[in-house]
Amino acid sequence: MFTEQRTGELQKVSLELIGEARRLADELGQEVIAGLIGKDVAGLTGGLISHGADKVYVVDSPVAELYMTEPYTKSIVAIIEEVKPAIVLFGATSIGRDLAPRVAARWHTGLVADCTSLAIEEGTGNLLSTRPAFGGNIMATIACPDFRPQMSTVRPGVMQKLDADPSRKGEVINFDAKLTEADKTVEIIEEVRETTKRVNIEEADVLVSAGRGVGGPDKFQPLEDLAAVLKGTVSGSRATIDSGWLPKERQVGQTGKTVRPQLYMACGISGAIQHLAGMEESDFIVAVNKNPEAPIFEVADIGVVGDLHKVLPLVTEEIKKAQLAEANK
Ligand SMILES: Cc1cc2nc3c(=O)[nH]c(=O)nc-3n(C[C@H](O)[C@H](O)[C@H](O)COP(=O)(O)OP(=O)(O)OC[C@H]3O[C@@H](n4cnc5c(N)ncnc54)[C@H](O)[C@@H]3O)c2cc1C
Repeated sequence: MFTEQRTGELQKVSLELIGEARRLADELGQEVIAGLIGKDVAGLTGGLISHGADKVYVVDSPVAELYMTEPYTKSIVAIIEEVKPAIVLFGATSIGRDLAPRVAARWHTGLVADCTSLAIEEGTGNLLSTRPAFGGNIMATIACPDFRPQMSTVRPGVMQKLDADPSRKGEVINFDAKLTEADKTVEIIEEVRETTKRVNIEEADVLVSAGRGVGGPDKFQPLEDLAAVLKGTVSGSRATIDSGWLPKERQVGQTGKTVRPQLYMACGISGAIQHLAGMEESDFIVAVNKNPEAPIFEVADIGVVGDLHKVLPLVTEEIKKAQLAEANK
């Protein structure tokens, strides 16, 4: 699997991929091998091993300091040549979506993009990759029986990372991918970081999620207040995004992000199947809805039937009181 790091920081999706790779490898009786590319990235290997990798192939080169398609493609292609894996996984991130098709084309193999689940087919041992198709109206399961390696990109937030086990042992291999300056087919003159604070709802531990039931863009205060006391983030259903109440990056669901927070609070969300697909794996789900028949209650651990504009301020007040009591202990 390809390990994604940016400016020396491991991306959460990499640990999720290792967790999934571990599960698949155990089923096949194979090893989990992480490919790590960058400059001065050796410090990240311990975290990869403690989260489930058996071996880490490190390509450490000044040429690979910043992500660039060609040097990274060359490195991954060379690692595949060396280890001959059955399966190669990438995060379905902007980097993974750029890199994986190139690698697949160089190996003349198939790639299933943007998967939401992976399984091993009984008997053949083939990888079965499932992803939404035809505008999200069906789930397609795709296999690549004739070519190797089998390749998939996996949506961030879908797979579960394993807890770190610092006692796990693994091997680190410094791999020479023979990168040279000539591999840089583009020159990065300047890197400009976006200054507006983009919210990554996939990383949040607590999501207070808005549905059409909130009632309008000027009615979010109770959700903002609750998110503030819970150190959480406000996300939303597609109805709130389509109405322009929240930016697209905050959409939860089949055509939005898949999230798995510790706490997901669905406020005025009916619980359509396309919404549930993005949040039903959350650790604990609380739903507030006026309609006792709303399907969201079927996946909720706690359901409150009521007007969210009345319920949420009361919940926020109670949490504040509890936090104060805790602080004064
Ligand atoms: C191909 C496809 C892909 C899709 N992808 C997604 C996706 O990624 N994510 C997604 O979310 N949807 C997606 N949808 C849309 C989905 O089918 C639903 O239309 C959408 O999730 C509905 O959003 P909602 O629950 O906010 O609104 P509604 O279904 O309109 O529900 C509003 C709820 O709020 C309740 N309510 C109203 N007022 C209050 C109040 N004051 N207090 C408490 N409760 C109140 C109502 O009882 C109701 O249950 C997709 C649809 C298709 C066809």
